[in-house]
Amino acid sequence: MTPVLSVRNLTTSFLVDGAWKDVVRNISFDVMPGETLAIVGESGSGKSVTSLSAMGLLPKGQSRVEGEILLNGRDLLQLSEREMRGVRGNEMAMIFQEPMTSLNPIFTIGRQISEVLTRHRGMTAAEARAETIRTLEKVRIPNAASRFDEYPHQFSGGMRQRVMIAMALAARPKLLIADEPTTALDVTIQGQILDLIKQLQEEEGMSVLFITHDMGVVAEIADRTVVMFRGDQIETGPTTDIFRNGQEPYTRALLASVP
Ligand code: ADP
Ligand code: MG
Repeated sequence: MTPVLSVRNLTTSFLVDGAWKDVVRNISFDVMPGETLAIVGESGSGKSVTSLSAMGLLPKGQSRVEGEILLNGRDLLQLSEREMRGVRGNEMAMIFQEPMTSLNPIFTIGRQISEVLTRHRGMTAAEARAETIRTLEKVRIPNAASRFDEYPHQFSGGMRQRVMIAMALAARPKLLIADEPTTALDVTIQGQILDLIKQLQEEEGMSVLFITHDMGVVAEIADRTVVMFRGDQIETGPTTDIFRNGQEPYTRALLASVP
């Protein structure tokens, strides 16, 4: 089976005070079709830099990304900015911790999701409206049709995260990269969002790269897990193995933090 995403020897550096400083070193992992791979590690360990490197979202000029990022066998690091925009729209999508940073506050959520559908799936406005409502229903937003014309600030934090997931799903990506999507939410809502991602994954057959600092969340959602520590990949394997016999002292400490 070919991996959906294959990250090979990823090293990412930033220009800091005129010198290149590597913050992620020699990371390699595969995300297989239909699987959820977690990247776990404490704050500052390089999880977001890894995902932003894969998405091509780091500021050019101030960052250097080396290695290979193969999406269905094609190296994203060789693509132009324009080609990368197409890949982000169609083949992979990303959701972040705080949905307000990716939702545009001045447009209704119906309009924002519809735009994805007209732009990337060639739908007419009427088709896009109907599909937007279906997608909002899919992420279990109550009274979806009546909320089409509402603005992001009219949704609660948990509902906004559902809207973001709907927007990410609208383009039918093969890969969803979720960077701490539940961290800002309270525990009950967090559980609901994790359940939703799991259900959608079964329904859509999507692969998920799930980033979190929380081992409890990892246990809940991940088939396999990469543990990062200060920019290095220190452990990789099936989540059950990592929980049963994580070898590195840092992994053991992370595990000890799970209630
Ligand atoms: P995590 O997501 O695991 O909390 P990050 O990937 O955000 O960690 O950050 C990893 C390291 O890279 C941190 O030390 C952070 O300060 C550094 N870093 C992130 N973005 C930049 C940047 N644009 N310029 C310089 N250093 C950065
Ligand atoms: Mg982060």
